[in-house]
Amino acid sequence: MFNALVVEKDESSGKTHAEVKELSSEDLPPGEVTVAVEYSTLNYKDGLCIGPGGGLVRSYPHVPGIDFAGTVETSEDDRYAPGDKVVLTGWRVGETHWGGYAQKARVKADWLVPLPNGLDTRQAMAVGTAGLTAMLAVMALEDQGIKDGPLLVTGASGGVGSVATAILAKLGYSVAAVTGRPDNAEYLAGLGATTIVPREDLAETIKKPLEPETWGACVDAVGGPMLARVLGQMAYGASVAAVGLAGGAQLPATVVPFLLRGVNLLGIDSVMQPYDNRLRAWNRIATDLPMDKLEAMVEPAALQDLPRLGADILNGRVTGRVVVDVNA
Ligand code: NDP
Repeated sequence: MFNALVVEKDESSGKTHAEVKELSSEDLPPGEVTVAVEYSTLNYKDGLCIGPGGGLVRSYPHVPGIDFAGTVETSEDDRYAPGDKVVLTGWRVGETHWGGYAQKARVKADWLVPLPNGLDTRQAMAVGTAGLTAMLAVMALEDQGIKDGPLLVTGASGGVGSVATAILAKLGYSVAAVTGRPDNAEYLAGLGATTIVPREDLAETIKKPLEPETWGACVDAVGGPMLARVLGQMAYGASVAAVGLAGGAQLPATVVPFLLRGVNLLGIDSVMQPYDNRLRAWNRIATDLPMDKLEAMVEPAALQDLPRLGADILNGRVTGRVVVDVNA
């Protein structure tokens, strides 16, 4: 038997309820590899899946947790043997397949990657899906060519924003971090941000399609009117890596920044990343992410804390990365 955070739905009221329960290995979904999970994390999507599902969960009872790191217990796939350390992100695990908020998980071998050298399972989850996404965004910006000027990170106190800020600062860029929480200025400076941009400076809907060329690249976790505004402030030929929509799904923008400034809008999806890309990104994380900075981002949690923390992340009240010790 093992512990898991199980979300159940009352079909008559449509309401969901999440609580820690005991499950047995026979309850687990099919898959080639069974993993003794050590750590998982809290991401925005987990907040949705702990609650009413937000269209992500297909059937109940459900075990959320879109990422995890742990040790292989049994494997029917040649690539993995008992005792191997592994990391999982994406592939709709924690959404349509039971995820990492449990002491055991069973998944397809293709969805895993070996834990990169230089990271332990806790560090890997301090990075987690948010950090992997931040690294994929940085790699996409590098592929396009980063232009002169400070680099902008929006939603900077969040999981993706915190890791993106730390990576870009470690790579030697001057990072401007946008936040709606002025009391997080010291935290963001500690991650390496050189300038703090108050959220309200970019909150107003665009009045002019182009403003002075300001940013050499941008990692955007916010979307919505802020992204529209940022597009008009990019340097000529610069790129924005769009990762999220914490500030809204609508994009009230004009085409002018694309036409007259050659701005690139790059969509970043961590969920369906093929094995080679995930491995490349994890290996870059192991070398390019300052681990002391990572530790400063971590808020530890246990399975029973997740119903409360899930509501917090949906309300933008979480700072950095919540790392869940499933054995705590
Ligand atoms: P967090 O909730 O940790 O961070 C989001 C941050 O955005 C908040 O901390 C806050 O930062 C800011 N924010 C929140 N609400 C608003 C608002 N209304 N207007 C402006 N800023 C706001 O989430 P994550 O960092 O984990 O994820 C960020 C986004 O990226 C989410 O939409 C998530 O779904 C998406 N995502 C996408 C992935 C992909 O593969 N494309 C993978 C992982 C996440 P502050 O207080 O500093 O302003």
